[in-house]
Amino acid sequence: MGLEKAFGESWVTSKMEFAINWARKFSFFNYPFVTACCGMEFMSTFASTYDIARFGAEFPRFSPRQADVLFVVGTVNQKMAPVLKRVYEQMIEPKWVVSFGVCATSGGFYDNYAVVDGIDKIIPVDVYIPGCPPRPQAVLDALVKLQQKVQKEKLV
Ligand code: SF4
Repeated sequence: MGLEKAFGESWVTSKMEFAINWARKFSFFNYPFVTACCGMEFMSTFASTYDIARFGAEFPRFSPRQADVLFVVGTVNQKMAPVLKRVYEQMIEPKWVVSFGVCATSGGFYDNYAVVDGIDKIIPVDVYIPGCPPRPQAVLDALVKLQQKVQKEKLV
């Protein structure tokens, strides 16, 4: 007897969804799009002290085609905006975006014509990390929030 017959199709689908999302949230592959000083805190978070491996998110990938989480770290100026969009488009689904620091989120104190006042004007953002720069603890908190979001996603 198939599982569908025994428990119903929706039961099987929801259990599959739970298992796949659980695997996804503990196997993030990050693409660090690092443009400015926030990069130092990004590197600090990914070093051994904070042990980001316990979240299954320690591997950076330097090809967007091999990554599923785009970390936008630092200021994005107008000239870089099309590059960021292109990198995002090159990533395979499912994919998520983390805005790292106040500059990526809103342009920060660079209130001028050359700076994008928030990367969500260019690409969708899943989690925002406040701070200038964010502390590693804030980055880990954002990672947990992203994991919670991924766990609730519906499979297409
Ligand atoms: S948020 Fe602060 S630390 Fe980060 S890129 Fe902007 S100015 Fe630099």
